[in-house]
Amino acid sequence: MADTKSGRDKQARDEERRRIQRDISEARERGDELEPTADPPTECHRRGCSEPVAFSVTERYQEETGAGAVEATAFLCADHTAAESPVNLEDAYEGYVFHVEPVAADADD
Ligand SMILES: [Zn+2]
Repeated sequence: MADTKSGRDKQARDEERRRIQRDISEARERGDELEPTADPPTECHRRGCSEPVAFSVTERYQEETGAGAVEATAFLCADHTAAESPVNLEDAYEGYVFHVEPVAADADD
């Protein structure tokens, strides 16, 4: 294998890979309602809190780097959910979402 231009080739490959990943995340964003959710954690996401998870809190916003929409989900106990509020309003766009959903503690099948 040639080695002098392998750096450039690698760069091109990395760019290609980034593009594919972006396509995947965009597709995922469009179809996220259909995606099965992974097993939610059972303990509150907040450090030092071991209360059972009561809600999932999801915020979707436009990342400031221009990389596209990002979706952040935290599984929180009732108290921490009540303290939660939108934190990325500066990066809000027309698809902005702040979403709180109850998590059934014993939906374990
Ligand atoms: Zn908590």
